[in-house]
Amino acid sequence: MTLDTLLIKAAERLRQAGSPSARLDADVLLSHVLGRDRTWLYTWGDKVCSTWQHARFDALVAARAQGCPIAYLTGEREFWGLAIATSPNTLIPRPDTETLVDVALSRAQLHGGRLLDMGTGTGAVALALASERPNWQIIGVDILADAVTLAQANAARLGLRNASFQQSDWFSAFGSPDEAATFDIIVSNPPYIAKDDPHLAQGDVRFEPISALVADANGMADLLYLIITARRYLSPTGWLLLEHGYRQADELRKAMDAAGYQSVESIRDLAGHERVTLGCFSST
Ligand code: GLN
Repeated sequence: MTLDTLLIKAAERLRQAGSPSARLDADVLLSHVLGRDRTWLYTWGDKVCSTWQHARFDALVAARAQGCPIAYLTGEREFWGLAIATSPNTLIPRPDTETLVDVALSRAQLHGGRLLDMGTGTGAVALALASERPNWQIIGVDILADAVTLAQANAARLGLRNASFQQSDWFSAFGSPDEAATFDIIVSNPPYIAKDDPHLAQGDVRFEPISALVADANGMADLLYLIITARRYLSPTGWLLLEHGYRQADELRKAMDAAGYQSVESIRDLAGHERVTLGCFSST
C-alpha cells in the first residue's frame, strides 16, 4: 500500500471514530513513525513503508481512534515554537497558555530577575520564558516527581540552562516565607476546572491527569490559594500572573483586590476570552 493510500484509509477510520482532525492526525502519526515531516509525506506519497512501520502506524491510529491525544502518541507538542516532550502525567501544553507567556514577557525586564512557575508540568511555560529571557533565573516546581524529571529533560534537550526544576508541594521547597528568597514574577497555570464541568468528558482532556485540571470550589480553590500564598514569596515590586477559565476573571480580580494587589487586570487570549489575571504590590 502506498503512503497516500495508507493515509486516506487511516483518516477515514479516524473520521468514523469521531476525531475532529482526522486527516491531520493521520499525517502527524505517519510523519512520526517515518521520522519525516509532513511536506515529505506529500512529496513521496507513492512510496511504501516497511512492514514494521506499517504495524507501528496501525497501532497508533488504533489508539487515536480510542481518543488518545496525539501529543501522548508522538510524545511531544509544540509550544511557543519549542518541541516540548509530553507524558500522560502532565497536561498537554495548550495554545491558550501562550497568553500567560506573553503577559509574563511584558513584565519581565530584559536585565534579569527571578521567576517561579508554580505547577510547571512539562515545563512548557518556564522553558518558553527561559528561551526569551536568558538573563532571568527561571524555577519551575511541581508536586509530581515525574513532571519534574520530564521538565528537566525538556530543558536539557532544548539547551535552556537558565531554567531549573524541583519538586515542591506548592511553596514547600522554599521554606517559610520570612526566610524565602523572593521572586519578581510568579506565574501559574493551576487546575481550575470545576469537577462537574461537561468539558471533562470530551476529547483529549479525558486522557489528561485530573489533578492538573480539576480544583475544588467550582474550580477556584487553587487559584484563590495562590493569590493568598504567593504574595509572601513575591518581591516588593513582584507580579503574580494566573491563567484561569474565562468565566473566572471577575471573581479573581475581586480576590486579588481584597488581598491587597494593585494594578489588577485581566488579559484576553486569542479567542477573546479573559484568560490571565495579574497584579502586583506597587504601582511603579
Ligand atoms: N484550559 C484547559 C482546558 O480547558 C485547562 C487547564 C487547566 O485546568 N489549568 O482544558
